[in-house]
Amino acid sequence: MVSTHPAGVRNSGYQYFSESRSTTTSPNQELLPLTAKVNSNDCLEIGGCDVTALVAQFGSPLYILDEETLRTACRQYRDSFKTFYAGESQVVYASKAWNCMAICAIVHSEGLAVEVVSGGELYTAIQAGVAPEKLYFHGNNKSVQELQLAIASNCTIIVDNWLELETLADLAKLPVSIMLRLTPGIECHTHEYIRTGHLDSKFGFDPNQIDQVFKFVSNNPNLQCIGLHAHIGSQIFELQPHQDLPGVMVQWLKKAADYGLPVTHLNIGGGLGIRYTEADDPPSIAEWSKVVCEAVTAACQEQQVPLPKLMCEPGRSLIGSACVTAYTLGSRKEVPEIRTYLSVDGGMSDNPRPITYQSVYRAVVANKMSASWTETVTVAGKHCESGDVLIKDISLPPTQPGDVLVVLSTGAYNYSMASNYNRVPRPAAVLVKDGEANVIIQRETYQDLVRCDRLPQRLI
Ligand SMILES: *Cc1c(COP(=O)(O)O)cnc(C)c1O
Repeated sequence: MVSTHPAGVRNSGYQYFSESRSTTTSPNQELLPLTAKVNSNDCLEIGGCDVTALVAQFGSPLYILDEETLRTACRQYRDSFKTFYAGESQVVYASKAWNCMAICAIVHSEGLAVEVVSGGELYTAIQAGVAPEKLYFHGNNKSVQELQLAIASNCTIIVDNWLELETLADLAKLPVSIMLRLTPGIECHTHEYIRTGHLDSKFGFDPNQIDQVFKFVSNNPNLQCIGLHAHIGSQIFELQPHQDLPGVMVQWLKKAADYGLPVTHLNIGGGLGIRYTEADDPPSIAEWSKVVCEAVTAACQEQQVPLPKLMCEPGRSLIGSACVTAYTLGSRKEVPEIRTYLSVDGGMSDNPRPITYQSVYRAVVANKMSASWTETVTVAGKHCESGDVLIKDISLPPTQPGDVLVVLSTGAYNYSMASNYNRVPRPAAVLVKDGEANVIIQRETYQDLVRCDRLPQRLI
């Protein structure tokens, strides 16, 4: 049990703490990492580390990753599938949410498998020590080189389309373990860029082609199709799409078995949403898992199909709320009667989600946790782009340059989508646990920025 704050304190940094937390608290329903507290200096503490001290030591912007929150989310998925599903199960971390060696190693140590979508992510997971049988390779346009790396590393390849299927049939000199990604035609309510399960999607085989695909695979003994896969989208709060998906998938499993394919695995994807603001109310990890497990079990009973090894592959809901980004506040611009801009020392290069998806975030001032929110400000980044705004119209206490602003729930699709726009070095990331902080990603230097630059002799 983590003690948090005097109950009922509102309109201050305490607002985003839930009243009490324990290991049964679902991280995806929290705005702050599970270990967050306010210490006697009125400063935010995560993983037993004072956030302002971390910024003093490691600089800013700084991604601060709470190991306890990440491990809790891993265990909740793993244990929920064990509880609610009678067959075998495997939780897979969709590492594109944040792929780096330390995170791959942590989730692997919790028994999770790792899903990758590029040669670079695959290489990183291998370097982190992820076992080949725990590696799954996705992607709608894998290169020949990536497919060769996948074959050489003995991972399972999730085949997305005809070109890939035919290329693999050529490349595979020995049996290769594959799964087939299908487009199930299931709609869900999320941003259109992150919707993938409806028929008009670039991902997966069209259901109309399914017989031809199964026939092709059954004629290629080196393509060992162990199962089927679908992923319907991201940041989903509804349970209905995941209740509907198994019926469709199990029907296709049955068909695949009719073609003689050794299908024993069913992967129903990820997509569970997280809380970014107090208005977000996603189901818990346990609730989502229960719905998925029961729907698969029911569909298998109804269609008389043996229970497959059930896989899910969450990304955001495993890592999202485990991380916050700490910035140092800088300049302030007041536009009378319109708005006040507060600028931070990062922005769209370390968190491109607001400018890409109009995503909304919440923040606290780490060194003024109990100060009353008396201002409404807009938090702007430092990039040369008017749209580089991290948070529009947020309530904060009065601040000064040098104060530490902490943006919450930045674990998913922040570091992994970070860029060097304006040649801003990408931030460091520290892993915090029990008062210890370890660098897991070093801050880039100016030397790093020019590492791949070349100056032809005639220009010197
Ligand atoms: C992105 C992705 C996921 C994870 O999605 P989240 O919304 O982060 O849980 C799972 N499977 C596939 C194939 C993906 O592309």
